[in-house]
Amino acid sequence: MDQTTLTRPETEATLAAKPVILTGDRTTGPLHIGHYAGSLKNRLALQDTHEQYLLLADTQALTDNAHDIGKVRRNVLEVACDYLAVGIDPVRTTICLQSHLPALAELSMLYLNFVSVARLERNPTIKDEIRARGFGRDIPAGFLCYPAAQAADITAFKATVVPVGEDQAPLIEQCNEIVRRVNAAAGREVLPEAQALIPEAGRLPGIDGRAKMSKSGGNAIPLSASEDEISRAVRAMFTDPEHLRVEDPGKVEGNVVFAYLDAFDSEKDDVAALKAHYARGGLGDAVLKRRLEDILQALLAPIRARRAEVASDPAQVHRIIAEGTQVAREVTEATKREVMDALGLFRL
Ligand code: ATP
Ligand code: MG
Repeated sequence: MDQTTLTRPETEATLAAKPVILTGDRTTGPLHIGHYAGSLKNRLALQDTHEQYLLLADTQALTDNAHDIGKVRRNVLEVACDYLAVGIDPVRTTICLQSHLPALAELSMLYLNFVSVARLERNPTIKDEIRARGFGRDIPAGFLCYPAAQAADITAFKATVVPVGEDQAPLIEQCNEIVRRVNAAAGREVLPEAQALIPEAGRLPGIDGRAKMSKSGGNAIPLSASEDEISRAVRAMFTDPEHLRVEDPGKVEGNVVFAYLDAFDSEKDDVAALKAHYARGGLGDAVLKRRLEDILQALLAPIRARRAEVASDPAQVHRIIAEGTQVAREVTEATKREVMDALGLFRL
């Protein structure tokens, strides 16, 4: 990638005409095929028609990783490499770093006054995540409050479209509640409401079938997985533990291989026929796994090659993030000023 790819050809007028998208990823590990099915594919499709910002959410990652800040720091470049490897174009999409956008933290502090602790505790995503992380009563305050911070992220860019996985829908709902309260306090519509764009594939389970695939769960197939890692992951994949002999009827529901075929196999009729055959009996796991492995190998080979190319020049990736963050800083500072003024805070 040469330096010239960084110039942004759009004028202010063309930018203003496009709806704004804000999404991002916590910098907790390399992105996985759940991200590909759940959000990256949508982001790729939308980068021409929308003004798109991708947030490397390192401060949000701290809310449950304060004990391992090194991991959060190291994965900033990893996640950026994944974006570029799947085809996110830094000319059309602004990649920016959350911890270097002070307006996001300032808006978060303001928004915390427009949401109750009880409401934060009732958020179904937060409830699930608290359970999954085993926090018990020791919930970091930053973690409980991250929906307000996410509302700051979305609104600071005046985003109206948020392409996310299904697990994030309650967070967008909570963001819109905050928006309505801020607008009511301001007496005018200073912030727009946002809409979650959720892909049909829904939430991809992890290879163990126990929870959703997640960077922190040890159950993911990263986009950077080697051929061998893909093979091993597919072989280890959870199917139906009671499907012992090929001729036995098998369970499709909860079978991870079918969940992945639904997400990645473009031959939908074939998949439907395979499901029927499996449920009837006479179709072994090995045949299904071979088909899935071929699909995943074909999907990930070009991404892996492109990633190696991108990662060979970390200084360039660094520059892309720095430049995107500079662009984002101007946008977010302007919104922060507008919100403060609309709420009637003292002006200096
Ligand atoms: P962590 O384990 O650190 O929480 P994660 O794998 O859950 O990481 P996030 O950074 O929390 O990833 O999520 C980023 C985006 O990817 C969100 O929009 C989320 O909905 C989507 N996403 C994450 N995991 C999946 C999945 N398994 N299936 C579909 N979408 C997903
Ligand atoms: Mg997550």
